[in-house]
Amino acid sequence: MDTFDELFVRNGFDTPSWSGVGVGWYSLLDRLLLDLRLLDVNDKITLEQVKEKYGGLRFYWSPARYAPRGNELWLVGELKDNALYHAVSDRIREAETESERTCELCGEPGTLSSKGGWFRTVCPNEPGYTPLNDTQKEP
Ligand SMILES: [Zn+2]
Repeated sequence: MDTFDELFVRNGFDTPSWSGVGVGWYSLLDRLLLDLRLLDVNDKITLEQVKEKYGGLRFYWSPARYAPRGNELWLVGELKDNALYHAVSDRIREAETESERTCELCGEPGTLSSKGGWFRTVCPNEPGYTPLNDTQKEP
């Protein structure tokens, strides 16, 4: 099985810093990265950070790419096409939504649950988690 870093490298992206999610989300992340590669935006965007927050995937990115040149960073590509920008945003949002019903630990269907005050999307098989009902999910 690939590591978190390998998912990015295999799809032609630099691994974002300060990032990581549970192995249960690797499959949906891998499919997202493949689709981004197929949209041919690798040299036009930067993946800033990929992490879990309040039980859901958070995929932060920016529509420009920089590369080191000497001691400075130079702009090497930009995502200027409006339709393509929305295609990227929509595909990322789709993966974030999918994460909200996928166990972050094993990949089986899951729901937002809590354990000792921490929120995570997990399946019923993960020990110690209490599923939140729909009322509790509303802010
Ligand atoms: Zn699970």
